[in-house]
Amino acid sequence: MARITLDHIRHAYGPNPKSDADYALREVDHEWRDGGAYALLGPSGCGKTTLLNIISGLLQPSHGRILFDGQDVTNLSTQARNIAQVFQFPVIYDTMTVYDNLAFPLRNRRVPEPEVDRRVRDILEMIDLGGMAKRKAQGLTADQKQKISLGRGLVRNDVNAILFDEPLTVIDPHMKWVLRSQLKRLHKQFGFTMVYVTHDQTEALTFADKVVVMYEGQIVQIGTPAELFERPSHTFVGYFIGSPGMNVLPVQLQGNAVRIGSETLSLDYAPQAAAGAKTELGIRPEFVNIGREGMPVTVNRVEDIGRQKIVRATFAGQPIAIVVTEDSEIPADARVTFDPAAINIYANSWRVGREG
Ligand code: ADP
Ligand code: MG
Repeated sequence: MARITLDHIRHAYGPNPKSDADYALREVDHEWRDGGAYALLGPSGCGKTTLLNIISGLLQPSHGRILFDGQDVTNLSTQARNIAQVFQFPVIYDTMTVYDNLAFPLRNRRVPEPEVDRRVRDILEMIDLGGMAKRKAQGLTADQKQKISLGRGLVRNDVNAILFDEPLTVIDPHMKWVLRSQLKRLHKQFGFTMVYVTHDQTEALTFADKVVVMYEGQIVQIGTPAELFERPSHTFVGYFIGSPGMNVLPVQLQGNAVRIGSETLSLDYAPQAAAGAKTELGIRPEFVNIGREGMPVTVNRVEDIGRQKIVRATFAGQPIAIVVTEDSEIPADARVTFDPAAINIYANSWRVGREG
């Protein structure tokens, strides 16, 4: 187990990168706490796999250093970094039995055979392949092969970290849930540093203590699920976490207030932004109140989503979503208010904090 530090990591796949757009990773500075369970969440193409491969040593970054417990490992091989990595698609030995596939990484490290046997059987149980130990991996289903890959990543208990790159993509939904809780249990038991890549927010929010959100080659926020929901540090996090995502409305700042179209909203603080910055107000659909009080709004349509309804409306010339309970009445001349504590202000897409 190790604390992993990424120090000013930049990476470009092509030669002669000129602008930020040429970098798959732009500037990543982050410390993964020893024994932490992290989810790395972000849309396809934002740089998640690139980042994992840089941590494990499969890829050499264009700039920056990687440290394990303060020791520079940037020039060490994958083998020397002692990291287990599970990929999105199975990486196994087809001609070996299921048992030998799992035993391989242990025998490679000269673990005594009785201990190999104990650990392999334990993991076989966990991945629900106990009955298939003697079968050749060849001919198994994609789902079973992926479980073997997962097992191979988990069988060693002396690794510095385990990196998972969307490992459950090909696993059926029920088994996904089972394996995820097993991973959580193993994490508690052995205290591995775990980084779990996913583009699925539910998966991230249930697995991890801390969620690291990536966007366009950068880490834009690290936080607990509640922090990501309540205080998105970047408008992207607001859109990406939650369903429907956060409403983002263009505003003008005026001291302790903001102007939206012809409406003025008072705040309990004065957000600061550089002159000329694009300023916006973020409010989650759950924290917009619709009724007879407040600012005028035009309701366009109402979508039923089980125990809740999403009201699609126009407010100050902008589209806005409002989430209400299924029994809510929406008056014809509806008006809205925003929960003051749930308002976030953004300048050039980044959240402007409250002073003090
Ligand atoms: P993610 O895993 O979040 O989907 P990736 O790390 O795979 O993102 O990709 C980040 C960016 O780098 C993307 O724009 C992708 O097209 C590019 N990229 C990834 N791998 C390569 C490669 N081998 N060669 C060139 N560009 C690549
Ligand atoms: Mg990827």
